[in-house]
Amino acid sequence: MTGEVFMFARGLRLTIAVLIPVIVITACSLPLVSETEIEDESKAQFDQMRNSMPVSTDATINAYVNCVARAIIAELDDYYAGKDWEIVVFDDDAVNAFAMPGGKIGVFTGILKVAENQDQLGAVLGHEVAHVTEQHSVERVNREMTTQIGVIGASAVIGGPTGTGDLISMGAQLGLSLPYGRKQESEADIVGLDYMADAGFDPRASVQLWKNMDKQSKLGPPEFLSTHPSSDTRIDDLISNLPEALGRYNEARASGKNPRCTR
Ligand SMILES: [Zn+2]
Repeated sequence: MTGEVFMFARGLRLTIAVLIPVIVITACSLPLVSETEIEDESKAQFDQMRNSMPVSTDATINAYVNCVARAIIAELDDYYAGKDWEIVVFDDDAVNAFAMPGGKIGVFTGILKVAENQDQLGAVLGHEVAHVTEQHSVERVNREMTTQIGVIGASAVIGGPTGTGDLISMGAQLGLSLPYGRKQESEADIVGLDYMADAGFDPRASVQLWKNMDKQSKLGPPEFLSTHPSSDTRIDDLISNLPEALGRYNEARASGKNPRCTR
């Protein structure tokens, strides 16, 4: 779960096609894109989404999503917990959710049909937030830029009219639009499992969530899976990490973390 901005997936394919050649030509002279720069771009994109898409005004649904998201955020280390987290429920049937650097979370009402209860939604948001805390968008864009530098070689750099600031901004946009890699997905699964368990959500629900997600992807456009490629071993990997996660979950419950997020 964004540098994924799932919702942008369709529109951004075109953007990527336009951006990559520009970055290929000029990447050698660029500093790498920092987390702060990605955060700034995220905020701008998030505001744009909020202003251009229907936002749910259903108080019950908003309270439910906020309840789960805040419980997860409370388990992050101080640096990430202290971000200015904003949680928006988009009134859209797409099966999608995302978290962006800087603390932006978007949940589409469509995913609430696949994530059937607070524990499954905790699995979705734990996974999404883990992409942020593991800095996957930053990794993605910088790996892309570095790869391009390697391909071209320093001698082939051609200066263009575009300023460095613009290129960093474009690089950040690119980082936010690329699907995650399989390794990043595995990392987000495992770290996300810890977050949900620490928050008092039953980590076993993650297995059912991904089974639901697989079933859903056979029924319609797999928006979520297009930016979160699933490995064949995802469910097996989650199961093999359950004993540790259940230990964390039991500790969390014993310490009074017993979220009751209802819709
Ligand atoms: Zn993911």
